[in-house]
Amino acid sequence: MPLVDYHVHTPLCNHARGSMEAFAARAASLGLSEICFLDHLTLHPGGSRLSMSPREVGLYIRACGRVREKFAGQLAIKIGLEVDYSPETFSRAREIVETFSLDVVAGSVHFLGSHNLVSHRERDNMPLSPAGRVERYLKLLFAMLDERFFDLACHLDVVKKFDKESPPGLAEAWDAVAARMAETGTVAEVNASGLSHPTGEAYPGPGLLSALARHGVPVTLGSDAHSPDEVGRHLPQVARELGRAGFSSLTTFCRRRPLAVALDPCLENDA
Ligand SMILES: [Zn+2]
Ligand SMILES: [Zn+2]
Repeated sequence: MPLVDYHVHTPLCNHARGSMEAFAARAASLGLSEICFLDHLTLHPGGSRLSMSPREVGLYIRACGRVREKFAGQLAIKIGLEVDYSPETFSRAREIVETFSLDVVAGSVHFLGSHNLVSHRERDNMPLSPAGRVERYLKLLFAMLDERFFDLACHLDVVKKFDKESPPGLAEAWDAVAARMAETGTVAEVNASGLSHPTGEAYPGPGLLSALARHGVPVTLGSDAHSPDEVGRHLPQVARELGRAGFSSLTTFCRRRPLAVALDPCLENDA
């Protein structure tokens, strides 16, 4: 069935490889109906080398536009940004983003202070206890949602990335996170990359997914591909999980307006 992949990076972020055409060609060969380039805009000093620079945003959008034209009739291509959220950089990030016409603006929490939460290299140097890390992460996540600026919130429970078991305090927060997503009208990205990480489950995992379903929060799918072979990874499996959690649609975006597309109910029966 036609699935969408709303989280595709490009080499402009300095830690992805493969041409933009190769990412799109992979999506077309998998039969995806739509992808969204969602490359990093990170102003946090610890992450700026892992991101396009603010000056490159225009170039990025033009490059996405050229790939979109090339694949017209084969694959729908949307253009977005994964904006790293920190309270210190938010207003500057908003200023930059609002200069451009994008299909979707996504927000992600990657940093707890100077610590990069998602970095393999930094995983053993976390200065906080597991409970302290969760508390700090949730505080930033709520602050991000309360800005009421982002269309999409990425990998909502990524704080569990290197944990085989859910860290203390995380599951207790699901209802409040889902309620805040609903209240602020933010769509949740279900990011399949977690299935390839030590956590072994998507972001969000089953507990948060059910809370999102209970609160009527719309969702979309993303692979977080940093190379063409990662486009679409695990998406059929995650789409089946969505069906089981009670979701019947996925959200796509056009010029920052959400649109629901039906999730094929037969998916659940597929192998
Ligand atoms: Zn991210
Ligand atoms: Zn990403």
